[in-house]
Amino acid sequence: MDKIELSKKVRQQTDVNVIECYQCGKCTAGCPVADKMDLRPSVIMRMLQSGDEKEMDEILRSLSIWLCLTCETCYSRCPMELDIPKVMDYLRQRSLAEGKVHREAHDIVAFHKSFLNSIESNGRLHEMGLVVDYKLHTGNLLQDITTAPGMFSRGKLHILPERIKDRTGLSRLFKGQTKKPKS
Ligand code: SF4
Ligand code: SF4
Repeated sequence: MDKIELSKKVRQQTDVNVIECYQCGKCTAGCPVADKMDLRPSVIMRMLQSGDEKEMDEILRSLSIWLCLTCETCYSRCPMELDIPKVMDYLRQRSLAEGKVHREAHDIVAFHKSFLNSIESNGRLHEMGLVVDYKLHTGNLLQDITTAPGMFSRGKLHILPERIKDRTGLSRLFKGQTKKPKS
């Protein structure tokens, strides 16, 4: 895949034209987790521009894409209005699909999956279900266990989930069959 093809593929999937990035570095300067990242946001954009498959492989194996908080600070600072969080999301999906998840990111991936499982089941987050699902996937069964009683007593954890009524719409959303509303 050449430079144009790789950037076209990213654009098709995210609607972000990485070629427009001119490396001003404002995204990295504002990113709250940039100092923990192995590849900083502006570096990822430059690597995507290069179109080099080896660089793409390095991105998909990086910890950075899993550390991104989707806070959108980079997006709001970018003079070209490039939606980096959307690109990060696309990269995470590819990393998962291609089995390239960084070894230190497995707990983050477990949380990501547990969060989506909860939304898919209930249409909203059920914190108790999320915690149980996450602990079963990571094996961290006793981690933070002492905080549970306090959270129960303050009404922060509920045994049973609250579910939305439109289950069919929710199911279609997760199957990618939701139509855009008419404007
Ligand atoms: S969305 Fe991700 S990359 Fe952008 S500033 Fe936030 S943490 Fe950093
Ligand atoms: S802020 Fe925008 S233009 Fe500047 S380096 Fe980041 S992505 Fe590129």
